[in-house]
Amino acid sequence: MKKQQIRRRRLVQGLALTGTLSAFGIPLSLLAQDGLVTHMLTDRITLVSGAGSNVVLFRGNDGITVVDSGSAAMANALARTIRDFAGAAPVTTLFNTHWHQDHTGGNEAICEMGAHIVAHENTRLWLTADFDVEWRNTSHSPRPETALPDITFYESGAKDLGGETVQYFHYEQAHTDGDIALFFPDSNVLVAGGLMSDGTYPITDIATGGWIGGLIQANTAMLALANDATVIVPENGPVRTKAELQAQYDMLIDLYATMKALIQDGLTGQNMLDRGITAPYDATWGDPTEFLLETYRGMWAHTSDMGGFI
Ligand SMILES: [Zn+2]
Repeated sequence: MKKQQIRRRRLVQGLALTGTLSAFGIPLSLLAQDGLVTHMLTDRITLVSGAGSNVVLFRGNDGITVVDSGSAAMANALARTIRDFAGAAPVTTLFNTHWHQDHTGGNEAICEMGAHIVAHENTRLWLTADFDVEWRNTSHSPRPETALPDITFYESGAKDLGGETVQYFHYEQAHTDGDIALFFPDSNVLVAGGLMSDGTYPITDIATGGWIGGLIQANTAMLALANDATVIVPENGPVRTKAELQAQYDMLIDLYATMKALIQDGLTGQNMLDRGITAPYDATWGDPTEFLLETYRGMWAHTSDMGGFI
């Protein structure tokens, strides 16, 4: 992690103790139980940090909706925080933005509260599958029935949560092949899941259908949804602004063009890393190794989408 990022995180931690977060001045609760911190984004929407991924809680007129369930290690702590937030209200719905274990690890615990799990069909399929995640040197085993989405969709849509309708948008083959972003238009909150990084280089998980071209398309669509007042919840870490999403997009567009040209010149991902092609961005985004090597592999899997290399 670069010094600049460490400084920024320390700043955020400092702000957490003084009661505001980010340019939006969002009030924070005092440090919550079990190391989780809750940030009230609006009267209805609360962000939970420290659960492995960001988790968003929405208070509808008829019950609570949760977006993402954090890591398995934090599942019990998250369940206690959700119960505190819900009070007597039922927990009716859990959206998964994608299948990654740090976003679905608490699915079983939230299912046990009575929630239906809602996700893109590809997310459900990955959760049922046995496969290797080569680039992370790990493997995935099928999850139990209680962790699986029981309401799935193929297309973008909307759901009335009682008091506000949430729009969910599926972006094909971006961070994975099952990503959704959720937009609360009345609250002007955009939950980006894996489509906006925590401030490090974003990941395109080629093992489950991600690639840089899809991530750029997703970011293009999200920029069109947002305005300067939109609170964007990234995969992890503090909330972001549209300007910060724009910075991610600009970096991706620039490196996409550079890498495409260098592939045509016969360079490998490692060659590009050795040449330091990401140097102008590394102070902001950190270590480029995983991003660059995965992006390179993803581009070769999508040569036809890029007009061919030869
Ligand atoms: Zn992810």
